[in-house]
Amino acid sequence: MIDRRSASFVQSLCMGRIEEEIVFPFPAMRPAEREVLEQVLASVNQLLAPRAKDFRAWDVAGEMPAAFLEELRSFGLFGLVVPEAHGGLGFGSAAYSRVLQEIARHDGSVALTVGAHSSIGMRGLLLLGTEAQKARWLPRLATGELIAAFCLTEPGAGSDAASVKTTARRDGEGWILNGEKLWITNGGIAGFYTVFAKTPSGESDGKAHMTAFIVPRDLPGISTGPHEDKMGIRASNTTTVLFEDVRLGAEHVLGEVGKGFKAAMRILNAGRSGLGGGCVGGMKRLIALATRQASERRQFGRPIAEFGLVKQKLGGMVVDAYASESVVGLVAGLSDQGYEDYAVEAAISKLFATEALWRTADEALQIAGGNGFMREFPYERVVRDARINRIFEGTNEILRLFVALTALSRVGEQLKEVVHGLRGVLAEPIKGFGVLSDYALKQATIHTGLVGERRSFTRLHPALQELGEQVEGLVREVAWVADRELRRHGKAIVDQQFALRRIADILVDLLVTVAILSRVTGALEARGEAGAARELEIARVFAREARSRIRGNLHRVDANDDALVVSIADDALAREGYGWDLP
Ligand SMILES: Cc1cc2nc3c(=O)[nH]c(=O)nc-3n(C[C@H](O)[C@H](O)[C@H](O)COP(=O)(O)OP(=O)(O)OC[C@H]3O[C@@H](n4cnc5c(N)ncnc54)[C@H](O)[C@@H]3O)c2cc1C
Repeated sequence: MIDRRSASFVQSLCMGRIEEEIVFPFPAMRPAEREVLEQVLASVNQLLAPRAKDFRAWDVAGEMPAAFLEELRSFGLFGLVVPEAHGGLGFGSAAYSRVLQEIARHDGSVALTVGAHSSIGMRGLLLLGTEAQKARWLPRLATGELIAAFCLTEPGAGSDAASVKTTARRDGEGWILNGEKLWITNGGIAGFYTVFAKTPSGESDGKAHMTAFIVPRDLPGISTGPHEDKMGIRASNTTTVLFEDVRLGAEHVLGEVGKGFKAAMRILNAGRSGLGGGCVGGMKRLIALATRQASERRQFGRPIAEFGLVKQKLGGMVVDAYASESVVGLVAGLSDQGYEDYAVEAAISKLFATEALWRTADEALQIAGGNGFMREFPYERVVRDARINRIFEGTNEILRLFVALTALSRVGEQLKEVVHGLRGVLAEPIKGFGVLSDYALKQATIHTGLVGERRSFTRLHPALQELGEQVEGLVREVAWVADRELRRHGKAIVDQQFALRRIADILVDLLVTVAILSRVTGALEARGEAGAARELEIARVFAREARSRIRGNLHRVDANDDALVVSIADDALAREGYGWDLP
């Protein structure tokens, strides 16, 4: 029986296990929620479909008019994740992600405005707020009377979020907040900020810790800077937010004092299905644009859609969209089913979907040729809008390190247990026996490729059996590499970024493949092999390509040019440039 508080599919992969109960069957939405969702999707389309020209104009102007925000409010789009008891729709992650997908099909700036509010701006209140805090703020957040923003980043604290300089010092029962936050989405239009500040330690280590606060905009001492002039998602509002001696009551503390960093990570983690949904929506729009363009544009006496190199791009775009939708849907399902430890899976879904959207936007623009480069057409804007996704809510580099290190941490724990276990065996042979035999089994699994009597996948549709067996083989190799890399580097693994990147990329490919296998199994069971023929093709294409990438990454764990690349980079850093101009 899987323990939903601690189970993690990807962490288990690193130990050579495929916990298929976590990922099979592919998650489905509750019928009642689905019904409401259909209505919301219809109203999203009713609101946004006629606005294509406006979105283009607002991109040029770099601003969204206040009257349009009013329309978003009246369509209930700020209440998607607020529980019904507080006036919202109470959507779970999957339904919420689907709505953001639909919004992003029309415009990235609108998706971000709604997403920053629901995914991160008020997520802390939903996750950590007291009943009194929820009752006080959620009804006004649900209607959009208050728009929410998430204030973590500062001029000196980006990826290193723990180094924020904003402070909250004690003032009787309350606090006084001072500091500046940078690039805050919805900063200038928000009425409700979730702010992270350093607070004095109440603990013996004497270090300052971070605490999360609810900060309403109408308190004295808050100001916002001008709207930033950005490359993409230009109509979404991004500003600095300045806090000068802002007085907060004890009731403004969100969660526990000193636990703000953990809170920030939990919020970002829980919000990922929104961002992933937005990426999937962007991809679907691009596929619609690119297929039309490819059919209409004629060169060499034929529609360009007839050329193999154009078909290769279109096919790849569909596979990327299906793969992203599968992994985002799987992770949203984990959240909706009450799994608590899906941070690695959520990070993978963000990584994969944001990079798949980037590839898709680039290829769609290429299919459009010179038109793709012209402002008159939508492609260049989508490319500009798509770029930010790999940067915010955790850069993809930081997330890769997080994925690999978190997945490896369980292997490390197990290795530690084994060492303790061996000592235990000598002291208490009966108690130690379980540990030893588990470890022996694991080693046998890794080295001989046998998992007791049982196959790892028992729920795969027979048509996918071969692909499943390939995944089983790769999982054994990954576990072997994880085990070996930990033994080789010990604690110093945290600085082995080339190795960590490879492990992360392998885990990304494995999770996405498994998400597809689970989804296609469902499709085959529901519609049979003829009915799900195309999805079977997608599964085959993705799994084959993923396997070849994984093999490459496994091979390069030992046979690589990492040291040479470091040396070349160091040389460029020393020269501050390129050193080999031809005369
Ligand atoms: C349009 C926009 C909207 C945003 N909205 C919000 C918001 O609403 N709320 C909010 O709090 N923030 C927001 N941000 C900030 C965003 O989250 C940060 O930009 C992001 O976290 C990266 O921080 P940084 O820009 O300071 O980059 P840096 O941290 O300076 O990173 C620069 C580069 O170095 C790499 N790097 C850094 N550290 C490491 C390492 N240890 N190992 C390997 N590589 C590393 C990074 O991956 C990146 O490629 C927004 C940013 C933008 C541009």
